[in-house]
Amino acid sequence: MIQNIKAVFFDMDGVLYDSMPNHEYTWIESFKTIGIDFPSEEAYLNEGRTGHSTIRNAIKKYLNREATIEEENRIYEFKTNLMQRRPKAPILPYMQELHKHLRSEGIDIFVVTGSRQPSLINKLADDFDVAAENIVSAKDVKQGKPHPEPYLIALDRSGFDAKNCIVVENAPLGVESAKAAGLYTVAVNTGKLNGKVLLDAGADHLCHTTKELFDLLTQSMHLK
Ligand code: MG
Repeated sequence: MIQNIKAVFFDMDGVLYDSMPNHEYTWIESFKTIGIDFPSEEAYLNEGRTGHSTIRNAIKKYLNREATIEEENRIYEFKTNLMQRRPKAPILPYMQELHKHLRSEGIDIFVVTGSRQPSLINKLADDFDVAAENIVSAKDVKQGKPHPEPYLIALDRSGFDAKNCIVVENAPLGVESAKAAGLYTVAVNTGKLNGKVLLDAGADHLCHTTKELFDLLTQSMHLK
């Protein structure tokens, strides 16, 4: 039982927005430009990494060589342009209601994302009332998830102890990052992976839907 929660750190893609189908599509199309047949599942397994890290790993794995800087930049730019042309990802059910509830309880909210895609980050203020200083994105970190740095930055900015903060994540690498930062982590499985990978990554609790997450954070946990 988690008690005395003062801040909740939300991942963005696949937690606040149903944006993973857009990432999946744009990764597959981007890797086609260099002859990589990128499996759909890999988009989900790599979720949380910075884009550049995903590109380096895929080139190593599928082309068996190091990526050049020029290639990294070109593929990432291609993906970003493609992302901007995708339909806006819908907000996941119950997430705005959950944010409103947490705020009404006086709980601070941070968004901690490996993304630097302006198409969604720029919507956070309007959709979730999140202030710019409460957003940790790929622009703020040297090491993306699964490194703990993104969550350690959020923890530092919050000013609270780790024991008073919880994380909501949907991706195995995001769970690893949060756990490495010493944070209680609730996984919500909104994607294509088996929920077991989230527990194997170290999640303290697994929700199968955002409704289950809403119920957990509004009813069954002692938040204060
Ligand atoms: Mg995510």
